Amino acid sequence: MKKIAIIGGGIIGSTAAFYLSQLSDCQLTVFDFPQGQATRASAGIIAPWLSKRRNKKWYQLAKDGAHFYQKLAVDLALPKTIFNHSGALFVRPEETLPDLLNLANERIKEAPDMGEIELLNGSATKKKLPLLKEMPSLYLSGGSQLDGSSYLDHVQSILKTKHIPFVQEYVTINKKADSWEVQSQGQTDTFDALLLAPGPHLKKLLAPLGYRVDIRPQKGQLLCFQTPFQPTSDWPVAMLEGEADVIPFSNGKILVGATHENDAAWDLTPTTEAYKQLTDGVARFLDSSVSLMDYPTTYQVGTRAYTSDFAPFFGPVYDDSSLVVASGLGSSGLTTGPYIGYLLANYFANQQAVFDCYQKSLTNYLSKRERPTDC
Ligand SMILES: Cc1cc2nc3c(=O)[nH]c(=O)nc-3n(C[C@H](O)[C@H](O)[C@H](O)COP(=O)(O)OP(=O)(O)OC[C@H]3O[C@@H](n4cnc5c(N)ncnc54)[C@H](O)[C@@H]3O)c2cc1C
Repeated sequence: MKKIAIIGGGIIGSTAAFYLSQLSDCQLTVFDFPQGQATRASAGIIAPWLSKRRNKKWYQLAKDGAHFYQKLAVDLALPKTIFNHSGALFVRPEETLPDLLNLANERIKEAPDMGEIELLNGSATKKKLPLLKEMPSLYLSGGSQLDGSSYLDHVQSILKTKHIPFVQEYVTINKKADSWEVQSQGQTDTFDALLLAPGPHLKKLLAPLGYRVDIRPQKGQLLCFQTPFQPTSDWPVAMLEGEADVIPFSNGKILVGATHENDAAWDLTPTTEAYKQLTDGVARFLDSSVSLMDYPTTYQVGTRAYTSDFAPFFGPVYDDSSLVVASGLGSSGLTTGPYIGYLLANYFANQQAVFDCYQKSLTNYLSKRERPTDC
């Protein structure tokens, strides 16, 4: 029986483990040391269709990733508290809404998951999401929210029932003649193949093997307000102008976020600057009777992985088909991550690799150095 190790138990690694356990009878182990993990820190918006990014392959991946949630929700029996078709509001200056509506009407031809498209006036927007002032918006009923942390708990509990080991250790890897060693504190295990889904840590993990990886860490902070508001379960997510979005969850939890900090490296400290930036950013959109800042507040802080062209990459490494990588998901990894995990599980199970329509060649992001280095 083939032995496969998945390194990284975020949204890619956990989803891949679930599908691999369904599609193949391999012997699977997941290693995860959840430090600064992006999935548990994330905001949870799944609504990629009105993105202005010009990278067509990325858009295809994001669109198909959003569509994949229909299958994922059924396969994993996701409850509404984890994955909710809440709809999404795009709150924008009134004069820009006709262009956004045109874009939505164009994109829905290829993406029926967008659902109903409605141009809302101020009072209709406020009726959908009472936290907001009366401001016009574009509403897509197909927008969704995912609670990343609860999603991982849910998948991990399924993996447990399938007796798949989930080892909470930071590991390093080492290539042997026709196998891989995975080393954690005091223990070495041997595997036939590896799936590396360690977010921005991919660079460090592969450096000793001589690979150069185009990845940088980006700090993201968001604020979590525990409010008494009820019922919040049918409130849509609101994508506002600027960096602060509002994401209401079913139990009165309201997220506001997130920052995109390129110079913070691996730092995970919550900062007063982020609090000010996010609360200032959202203030002009909130109804004057809503003072989120009066409620208990916590931070969620994580490290995203970014490539130079902001696009993710995934698949078998060109010179070694037993080594599969996935990283660089940036700000939209909740949208694309489960689908990438599914595609990679299919690769291991059936050697199917239909990845070209979603990304440039892997060699754009990963190449071999002449001499290995430590990081
Ligand atoms: C604040 C914030 C808000 C976000 N909001 C959204 C959003 O609204 N919508 C959206 O689509 N996306 C969002 N994202 C992006 C999304 O969360 C990420 O792109 C996605 O979760 C990345 O998943 P991943 O599995 O690649 O990595 P991660 O979730 O980071 O998981 C990688 C795991 O591997 C572990 N690991 C690394 N190296 C090792 C090692 N050597 N040994 C063992 N374990 C290791 C890490 O510690 C980590 O636990 C947000 C991200 C942040 C930070």
